Amino acid sequence: MKINANEISALIKEQIKNYNHEIDSSDVGTVVTVGDGIALVYGLSQAMLGELLLFPNDIYGLVMNLEADHVGAVLLGDDSLIKEGDEVKRTKRVMEVPVGDALLGRVVNALGQPIDGLGPIETKKLRPIEVIAPGVITRKSVDTPLQTGITAIDAITPIGRGQRELIIGDRQTGKTAIAIDTIINQKDQNVLCIYVAIGQKNSTVAQIVDKLKSHDALSYTLVVSATASEPAPMLYVAPYAGVAMAEEWMSQGKDVLIVYDDLSKHAVSYRTLSLLLKRSPGREAYPGDVFYLHSRLLERACKLDDKYGGGSITALPIVETQSGDISAYIPTNVISITDGQIFLVTDLFNAGQRPAIDAGLSVSRVGGAAQTKAMKQVARSIKIDIASYNEMKSFAQFGSDLDASTLAILNHGDALNEVLKQTQYHPYSLDKEIFYLFMAKNKYLDSLKKDKVSEYVAKAYEYATNNAKEALKAINNEKEISDKTEKALTECINKFVEISKEE
Ligand code: ATP
Ligand code: MG
Repeated sequence: MKINANEISALIKEQIKNYNHEIDSSDVGTVVTVGDGIALVYGLSQAMLGELLLFPNDIYGLVMNLEADHVGAVLLGDDSLIKEGDEVKRTKRVMEVPVGDALLGRVVNALGQPIDGLGPIETKKLRPIEVIAPGVITRKSVDTPLQTGITAIDAITPIGRGQRELIIGDRQTGKTAIAIDTIINQKDQNVLCIYVAIGQKNSTVAQIVDKLKSHDALSYTLVVSATASEPAPMLYVAPYAGVAMAEEWMSQGKDVLIVYDDLSKHAVSYRTLSLLLKRSPGREAYPGDVFYLHSRLLERACKLDDKYGGGSITALPIVETQSGDISAYIPTNVISITDGQIFLVTDLFNAGQRPAIDAGLSVSRVGGAAQTKAMKQVARSIKIDIASYNEMKSFAQFGSDLDASTLAILNHGDALNEVLKQTQYHPYSLDKEIFYLFMAKNKYLDSLKKDKVSEYVAKAYEYATNNAKEALKAINNEKEISDKTEKALTECINKFVEISKEE
């Protein structure tokens, strides 16, 4: 049989034509390369930025690059299960995570899947991880305090519900400790807490969960964990997943506290992804949009107006510095996004001043509006007193003859610093903080030896809990020191001073 060449070419042409009709190349693509948690996919001409793609073995990918003839996706799962030539489908959905009260007391990964072995999470509700932050109209200025229970912070850098306060410092300066103590102190305060661990060690996260459990804090806390052993995309997604879960509670009018520990590692994971996706590196090899990475995250923390439910998300992002350099790229970015920073210093930490807060460089730009009146009454001059103390101290090193006024400043500063020392996992109630600062402010402690101060105030407070109960209760209830309370406190302390002299 003779075959006509023309017929064959017509047949092939026909088939090619039909082939194009059969498969919609915009919804199904093919993996071109895969590795390091990144897949380049040919086809998918209609894929959208941030869309979820379905790879074989039920692995999902997130579209991050739209190129002329392919898309770049980060894989939210084990990339070794995917190979070249695999089929990829569009889902036409953005990434969502489960939200709701069922998450309380649980530990989940960045996709919202439980990893604590306590069974499935019973919730049907999902929320997209990327949404636009609430606009100005829906917001209200910060007006309610978020008590951290850490005297130095509540006095010097008060935090309000809906505020974003950065915790910044070198490694091992007690950054995580502050965040965890704050969570522990939210017991019975009607604040739900979320701790997002980004790039921490598995063992560290396990320890934190244990501590929360032993302080009865896990029942109102959710832990989102993307540890260092997980692929970079999980670390990248974790904080957005966390804040989406927080938004659900905020939309119900609840107050939420969210900790991002830490955003330096988050930025590094994003840099890894960007370089693998062949985006051009900028300063310190970070991509050009690394500011937007954190600004769009932290903008989602806010206090909503009562008309919109009145809920709030308070964010405590943590950033690690290298040898105290707060002018590096990521620190300056996050400092400019947040409403203030708590700066922790290695030297203070090693000298035993813990929490190692630098009173000069730490600020809270909006929290003052939310600080209780009682705290304002006793804490007003602390920052100045510590500043003049530090100045005098550097002078005093040179001479032994000090005049009376210099000595007074030094003694007062020493006493203040002692009062601001606080051990880990021991957040104070409001009346305890106020009582301590009241004693320092009224110079009951200046004449004591430095190493006796903490024991002395602790005893005085114990004495007051027995002998000035009403006054302490009044501080907690009225949130101010009325004339009557002040009189009662003064009387009680004077009596205590008499008694301890006799001993
Ligand atoms: P990393 O950079 O490793 O994340 P970090 O800055 O988060 O460290 P932490 O892990 O919170 O620091 O604390 C470091 C160590 O100091 C821990 O062993 C912790 O128990 C201890 N520590 C922190 N705060 C205090 C405190 N107020 N009193 C006593 N010890 C503390
Ligand atoms: Mg830490």
